[in-house]
Amino acid sequence: MKEDAMNNGQTKPGYNLQISSENQFITDFALFPNPTGTLTMIPFLESFKARYGHYAGVAVADSGYGSEENYRFMEENRTEAFVKYNRFHIEHRPRYKPDPFRSGNFCYNETGDYYVCPMGQHMERCGTRLARTASGYVTESACYRASNCSGCPLRRRCYKAKGDRREIEVNHRLRLYKEKASELLCSEEGRRHRGRRCIEPEAVFGQMKTGMGYRRFRHFGKDKVTMDFAFFAIAFNIKKMCSKIRETARKGGNTPSNGRFDHISRYELSENPIFWPRQRKSAA
Ligand code: SF4
Repeated sequence: MKEDAMNNGQTKPGYNLQISSENQFITDFALFPNPTGTLTMIPFLESFKARYGHYAGVAVADSGYGSEENYRFMEENRTEAFVKYNRFHIEHRPRYKPDPFRSGNFCYNETGDYYVCPMGQHMERCGTRLARTASGYVTESACYRASNCSGCPLRRRCYKAKGDRREIEVNHRLRLYKEKASELLCSEEGRRHRGRRCIEPEAVFGQMKTGMGYRRFRHFGKDKVTMDFAFFAIAFNIKKMCSKIRETARKGGNTPSNGRFDHISRYELSENPIFWPRQRKSAA
């Protein structure tokens, strides 16, 4: 946990709460035992599908979610991924100057499958490295090696490893996903989504924690905590709806009448089995 409520540095158990929001209404939530966002995205998108019957058409998320596995999942399920990757902010700073010695900035010749280093030397492909992520997903990186770096005047600036042949590894699939994400995020729609990102889930978390004082779960165990937050989310959305109706009425817009609310609540009560009287079990 980030906060140290008891000021004693003692670690405290907690869940990683993921929420999705639209117009500051909580549209879905899920709780995870793992701390990072990378591994939570796919189960969270699955949870969205289980709730609404389809995958989200558009996903907007910060750089903590930008992994090859997540990009691939969204591509395969036709979710438009406005998801940043780890170096997106650095690369899009106004005064950003690309480091010519970073392997990602070397020129790549797709036809010949080789890179060109800052001295103009071709780095030929020398192998493939497979790695497995914490979720079991296998990534594939291509390895390239310079033919001879001894005597190169840029050697000290270029790399620190021992040996006279610089080697680089490139995950081409991830590189292409990042290029696509960058293009989407810099489009007009992408800029609009990025602008709203800070007033969507972040604002919801702010209202929850600061405005409504919901800083801790009141129960132990995932099932109970899920129930705990589900009630909170319902209350949060009702509160949000009321404030939006009040705001619309103040501006002179159309608002639902009391009669319609009454009708909706009666319909919910009669149609939704969760409100039906519990059936008595027959004795065996
Ligand atoms: S050290 Fe090797 S890889 Fe780096 S610029 Fe010189 S020749 Fe190219």
